[in-house]
Amino acid sequence: MISALEALERLREGNRRFVSGTQGRDTDLCHSPRPELSAKQEPCAIILGCSDSRVPAEIVFDQGVGDLFVIRVAGNIVAPSLVGSVEFAAEQFGTRLVVVLGHSRCGVILATLEEIRQPMKSQSPNMKSIIDRVRPAIEESLRTDQGRKPEDIVRHAVRANVSASVNHLRHDSEILARLIGNDGLFVVGAEYSLETGEVEFFDSEASVTHSHQS
Ligand SMILES: [Zn+2]
Repeated sequence: MISALEALERLREGNRRFVSGTQGRDTDLCHSPRPELSAKQEPCAIILGCSDSRVPAEIVFDQGVGDLFVIRVAGNIVAPSLVGSVEFAAEQFGTRLVVVLGHSRCGVILATLEEIRQPMKSQSPNMKSIIDRVRPAIEESLRTDQGRKPEDIVRHAVRANVSASVNHLRHDSEILARLIGNDGLFVVGAEYSLETGEVEFFDSEASVTHSHQS
């Protein structure tokens, strides 16, 4: 199994290919069924991303069948079954990189900002459960965003939400905390730009430093 830093580099290179339009490294091989994967898988990264149709993880990182363990949920929120999915992949497959992938102009973030401004009475309890997960981080970022332009407020809110999910994964799972402390697991945040196709990684220093110390 490759290290977290190697996996991170693989994703950065894949995204560069995607942005430059040179994707499809060994396309026939990596985008077709691979019989050797029927017995086992060794995904190089676990991606917790938004369900938004414009942010398919395998495509924006130019990865193929068997390369990524992808969990997608509106707003890239962290709830128990999603933490469990990350734990499962990290334990079962030895994958050492977890990326929380948010994106610009995320509908869940826009809906949460709207809900804070003007609460809706008739919201479905299921959708409300998503907004409720996002809300605390957004409210916190709004406190420091007084007087900023609307697009800056949305940008900060997207990042605050990614960081909240990263922190949750780092600190609220015994299994992941152990893997971070002893086995080189990194949990990093990233934002995909709908405008440019670029993925910017951030919120990664703490985990990198931590791993170097251990
Ligand atoms: Zn989204």
